[in-house]
Amino acid sequence: MIERKYDVVIIGGGISGAIAGIAAARSGAKTLIIEEMGFLGGALTGSGVNPMMTFHAGDVQVIRGITDELVQNLVKINKSPGHIKDPGNFTATYTPIDSEGMKYELEKMYRDAGGTVLFHSQLVKSIVDDNKITEIQVLTRNGVININSSVFIDASGDAVLSVMSGVPTQQGRESDGKTQDMTMTFKMVDVDEPMLRKYVVEHPDEFWVDNDKFNVAKRVSVAGFKREWAQAKQDGEISKSNGRDYLLMFGTANEGEFVFNSTRISDHDPTDPWSLSDAEYIGRCQCHELELFVRRHIPGFANAHIVMTGPNIGVRSSRQIEGAYQITAADLLQQRIPDDTIAISGYPIDIHDETASNVTKLPYGGYYGIPYRALVTKQLSNLIVTGRCISASFEAQSAIRTTPTVGAIGEAVGDAAAVAAKNNIDVKDINIKQLRKKLIDDGGFIR
Ligand SMILES: Cc1cc2nc3c(=O)[nH]c(=O)nc-3n(C[C@H](O)[C@H](O)[C@H](O)COP(=O)(O)OP(=O)(O)OC[C@H]3O[C@@H](n4cnc5c(N)ncnc54)[C@H](O)[C@@H]3O)c2cc1C
Repeated sequence: MIERKYDVVIIGGGISGAIAGIAAARSGAKTLIIEEMGFLGGALTGSGVNPMMTFHAGDVQVIRGITDELVQNLVKINKSPGHIKDPGNFTATYTPIDSEGMKYELEKMYRDAGGTVLFHSQLVKSIVDDNKITEIQVLTRNGVININSSVFIDASGDAVLSVMSGVPTQQGRESDGKTQDMTMTFKMVDVDEPMLRKYVVEHPDEFWVDNDKFNVAKRVSVAGFKREWAQAKQDGEISKSNGRDYLLMFGTANEGEFVFNSTRISDHDPTDPWSLSDAEYIGRCQCHELELFVRRHIPGFANAHIVMTGPNIGVRSSRQIEGAYQITAADLLQQRIPDDTIAISGYPIDIHDETASNVTKLPYGGYYGIPYRALVTKQLSNLIVTGRCISASFEAQSAIRTTPTVGAIGEAVGDAAAVAAKNNIDVKDINIKQLRKKLIDDGGFIR
């Protein structure tokens, strides 16, 4: 029995699903987000990811619209310093956030728009008839309930709704199926930040840092301490399972608080529940080792301590849907802007793989377009996909996966879903010109 009926139902309340929800609800659609955790934001809030990277391509802000509105709202309540020139020159800018502030603001914006959310609820089944999802089953604290919707959005990160609806997917690298390494992030507080900053400024050769930007940045990132890391590995303080060879940490919105992106769990499968469970434990062991290591060896950390590890290990990539179009690395590096572009990004190819990051940057100021065709399937008339599981090659996915980009994609997907629901049309048949115009009218940067 169908318990409830909606215009738009979104599986997954990560940053992409939540922004899709805000856009759909603002367009007047009766919208529901189904999320297995008890908060919105997904990896961005739940895995403690920081900072959002990047809203800019060179000097141009290419991610605007709802995703930027969210940041500006955080700035107003002192939960983000806003966009900062990246002192490491990895990207043009980055945007530190306070995870708890993000959980609050994202849900406030969604509920203010009129959206409904069902937390602690997991999609378990999709029923497809005549190329259409007619109904889904959701496991709640009160058993399984059935929900119907005109349009469904798969924002699950792992393409869970797509797989359950029979959409073909590709997992990991095309040659061997290997996904990017997972990372358990952790947050430390009570860092003596002036001491850390002083050390970095006095030893510029030991860090990837531009001191001019570093000195004026309200919040800083630090990438380095290679020598200390190598010594700790030799001494057995950091175990061999952690394939990284330097420390990478980001100041959050709060003084003295850093998020570390310094663990690495290789050769585990994020869609195999047994492997994923082992990865969680290995990740937590690496976090514990690193807490001891930084307290002993890194200036400013003697009295710091971990306040959280991600409740979930961070998954960078798992499954990609086979969409009407697959975005490739060539599309990005040649800065292609297809006619059906619904979002623009300048983030580089950034593959975390075993020991190194394989980064291919665009020229300064370069950007590429995300085509709508990469968000829809060949088979289903009422499914749109958003977030890190859209149709992209392994290399291309490593670029389009970061939070500002998937936020911008989410806005377009929410708008498109509302239009398809209102007019009772196939999601592949919506008027792309009108969608692009709406995104621009709402403050977006679309070329
Ligand atoms: C370690 C790490 C570091 C990163 N660093 C950065 C960084 O510095 N800057 C940056 O911008 N990006 C970074 N990223 C990338 C970025 O965090 C993610 O790619 C992005 O947050 C993905 O958003 P999403 O909404 O597509 O998916 P997710 O955040 O994965 O959200 C998916 C949501 O769906 C829910 N869900 C899944 N299955 C079900 C189901 N069956 N039923 C109900 N709910 C379900 C999940 O609980 C989750 O909330 C990093 C990622 C990782 C893992």
